[in-house]
Order: sequence, then C-alpha cells, then structure tokens
Amino acid sequence: MDLRTSHGPDRSYNPKVFLREQKNKIIKEHQYHMSTTSKYTLCIHGGAGVITKEELSDAERASIVNDLNASLIAGEEVLKSGGSATDAVCAAVTALENSPNFNAGKGSVYARSGKHYLEASVMDGKTLKAGALANSQTIKNPVKMAKVLMDRDDIVFLSGEGVDAMAKDHGMEIVDNTWFDTPFRKEQWKMAKKMAGDQTFLDHTNFKKGTVGAVAIDSEGNLAAATSTGGMTNKIDGRIGDTAMIGCGTYANNKTCAVSCTGIGEMFIRATVASRVSDMMEYGNISFKLAAQRSIDEQAALEGDGGIIAIDRNGDFTMPYNSEGMYRGVVTQDDRKVYIWDTPENN
Ligand code: ASP
Repeated sequence: MDLRTSHGPDRSYNPKVFLREQKNKIIKEHQYHMSTTSKYTLCIHGGAGVITKEELSDAERASIVNDLNASLIAGEEVLKSGGSATDAVCAAVTALENSPNFNAGKGSVYARSGKHYLEASVMDGKTLKAGALANSQTIKNPVKMAKVLMDRDDIVFLSGEGVDAMAKDHGMEIVDNTWFDTPFRKEQWKMAKKMAGDQTFLDHTNFKKGTVGAVAIDSEGNLAAATSTGGMTNKIDGRIGDTAMIGCGTYANNKTCAVSCTGIGEMFIRATVASRVSDMMEYGNISFKLAAQRSIDEQAALEGDGGIIAIDRNGDFTMPYNSEGMYRGVVTQDDRKVYIWDTPENN
C-alpha cells in the first residue's frame, strides 16, 4: 500500500480549485432551490418596543410614516428596475439611516460615554456572502460599508478603528461622531442616566424610535437581508448587539428565507433568532410562519423584547413581534403598506 497516497498529502489537491468548486456547488444548489416567481416583495422595520398611542403625537406619527414609505419606495425602485434583493435592502436601509426618526445612522442613540457606536450587516441569500461591522464612529451610512465588506473576499466582520479606516479607503462618506447627534436622543440619554446610570435601554422603551432593517426577494427569486443600528441607549462603550451578527440579527438563505431583527440584542444573540428561522424550516420541516413565530417566542422566553421581519423563498412574508408595537412596512408589485400597531397607517 502506498502510505503516501492514503495518509500523506494529496498532491492533486489544489486549495484554490477546491474552493472554486465548493463555491459553484453552493451557487448551483441555491439556484435549484430558487423560487420561480417573477414578483418582488420588500419588508422593512424601524424598530420594535413600547410605542404607545398616547405618546406619539400626530406630527411624529406622520413624519415616521412618511420616512417608512420613503424607504419602501427607495427599495422598490431597485426591485422594479430588475435590481438585486441585496441592492434593494441596502437602498431601503440607507434611507432609514438618513432619517433622524430612527436609531441608525443620523439619530443613533448615545452610548454611556456620550459617543455613538454604529453597527450594520447584510447577507445575500444566493451566495451566502455577508458583511458586518460594529463600533464604527464615523461611517455616515454603515449599511453601505457592510455591503463593501460583503463584496470583498477576505473578510466578513470588521470593527472599530479598523472599519472606519477601511471605509475611508473605499471612499465612503465619513463624518465626525457628533454628526449623529440629535437633541431628541441627547435628552433620551440624559433621562436614561437619571433613571439608572448603569443600565441600558431598548431605545423605543418609552423612547419611541428604533433600529432599522429590510428583507427582500427580487424578480429572480433571490433573497437578502440587512440591518443597521446605533444599539441600545446608554450601552457600555464597545458593546456589540445582534444587529452586527450574522445569524442573530440578520440572515438570508435562498433555500429558506431572509430575516432582519429588532429588540434587546443580548436575547437575540443567545437565541440566534435570525438563522434559527431558516434552520427550523430546513432541518425541522417547520412551515415559514410558524418557524418565525417560534423563533420570536424563544427569545421572549429569555425575557427578550422585539420583533422580526421575514420573507420566504416563495415571496410570503411575516412580521411578528412580542413588544407593544413595531414600525414596519411592506411593498409588493400590487400594494404598499406601513404599520405601527395592528392596522395599516394612512399613507
Ligand atoms: N437589536 C438592537 C441592539 O441590541 C437594538 C434594537 O433593535 O433597537 O443593539
């Protein structure tokens, strides 16, 4: 027996060829599983939490509804013109990051030291490629940088000064950390400190506005998800939540579904909420909507609070939450709706 061939290094093995073959295999498998629908669907969220009707003025409500619609329109533009689900979720999330009404990009919450630390992630369900960042202090649109990381072959997750420096090299728009300031968030942070100096708060718990995310299926049946946040109000500097973590706050897989989460990040991490929906569908043979509900229930059982938006490979969608409300919206070829509570808001 030639020991060299059976136990020694295989001289015909070429890692580059092997990787290329694996990649093609994954893409083929996922194409096989792709839906044949020619329609598109995009869902967005602007955070979940205690959103009481008494505390939301008509003007605030109108402004939030307006910005949710603007995000749906931005994402739909991409899908309508035959663009990819990945580009659509990035466009929808960018619009929400640019709105001071939400806890992502401009209007992000304050960490304990008074700084803003931003997180974002994106995942493409066709290739299973992903990009994620945490603790950025200067990137104006973190989701755009998450997409840059996704498109690189050498890295998935980058944080802190490293990601800020790479964003600059990639020509991303860079701002001073104070650019993310808003008077509303500053008040909220001061109030949080007064209530309990060393506690963190889900930003909508009496503070109304939240983390953002989007999921989409494009006309070729490809799925994608993206999420972006400033994190939790008064968080410990350097703390990272589910939003930056693939499988926890964001996940997409053409075999099953795309998911974006909002809520107390620690519970979403412990319950791996986003990829769990997909796993239940793939390995547990559980139907899409039941899997989404179960995943949310499991983080609720850890005393979590929040919600998810999800679209499956057939274009069905669901947006369950266990908090009082969740800013959310959906657009298809036929209809566009935004919600805060149970019934659609007037556009
Ligand atoms: N999940 C986010 C975090 O824990 C917060 C949120 O969804 O509002 O950072």
